[in-house]
Amino acid sequence: MLIDGHNRKVNYLRISVTERCNFRCQYCMPEKPFSWVPHENLLSYEDLFLFVKASIDEGITKIRLTGGEPLLRKNLHTFVKMIHDYAPSIDLAITTNAFLLPHYAQDLKDAGLTRLNISLDSLKKETAHYIAKKDVLDEVLAGIEAADKVGLKIKINCVPLKDVNDSEMIDLLEFCRDKNYEIRFIEFMENSHATVKQGLDSKEIQAIIAQKYKFTKTQKEGNSPSQSYMLEDGYKFGIIEPHLDDFCSDCNRIRLTAEGYLIPCLYFEDALSIADAIKKKDINEAVNILKNVLKNKPEKNKWGEENTSTRAFYETGG
Ligand code: SAM
Ligand code: SF4
Repeated sequence: MLIDGHNRKVNYLRISVTERCNFRCQYCMPEKPFSWVPHENLLSYEDLFLFVKASIDEGITKIRLTGGEPLLRKNLHTFVKMIHDYAPSIDLAITTNAFLLPHYAQDLKDAGLTRLNISLDSLKKETAHYIAKKDVLDEVLAGIEAADKVGLKIKINCVPLKDVNDSEMIDLLEFCRDKNYEIRFIEFMENSHATVKQGLDSKEIQAIIAQKYKFTKTQKEGNSPSQSYMLEDGYKFGIIEPHLDDFCSDCNRIRLTAEGYLIPCLYFEDALSIADAIKKKDINEAVNILKNVLKNKPEKNKWGEENTSTRAFYETGG
């Protein structure tokens, strides 16, 4: 079992397989970075898998593949299959913007994937274009449909932004309820890379939904970062509230970048690399680095203190 320096059990690994992205979301990567990580610096699927196996053996039970846009990394389904074949019971999902899903949904399903988390911030063409800085809505909706058609379970992530998509919270909720997808609204986390400056906080999101629906707060499920709320008809939606003081109290996450950096917290710049250890096939050393990173995992982020993080979401994978 993996325990961090604040006695929290860590069983959730998020792997960013690439920092590259085909969108330029205003809250994440509005501009192309000065330079991308060169391809030769990326850990191969074989190398990443060595670490994945060791992490599973140490107690990781939940893995998310993310990015940047993970579907930009070639043959992602082969990596999914490696993980699935090693540990079929692992809770494995991909977080994606859905743009490329019409091409890859079937391969991912065949590789053993069962679930996807998809970002959808607007159902209006112009607003989706404004947020992603590209005309994306038709492809995103086609991607969602393709995933649904092959039987992948879908959760939708939405970042509500002031005066951008805040008038659409109810439309998005109803879209997801009608399709039987869970929706999770994520409070915008201020970071120095973003060009939008203000998101809606949980109370503001709830106030908008309350204009049309009655709902109750429900028991938080396990270590989920999302607080659940239930409409009177039983439909559940979530809000991810990183600005709340106790948000980090049961954090169970560790993040690995495509270059091999282990990042203990989304907010801070700290990281240690497992790349050399993994390339030498020294798994014990990689696990020691993991335990060292966990020992020094910060107790809390600082978003609640009205600070801005300098960490790039596209690098850590959100
Ligand atoms: N490209 C994929 C996608 O957009 O789903 C995966 C990577 S993205 C970094 C992962 C998640 O982080 C997405 O749900 C995105 O909305 C969220 N995210 C990115 N920047 C954020 C920010 N500043 N505040 C809150 N969530 C953010
Ligand atoms: Fe790309 Fe996802 Fe970041 Fe948008 S949120 S820029 S789709 S990595």
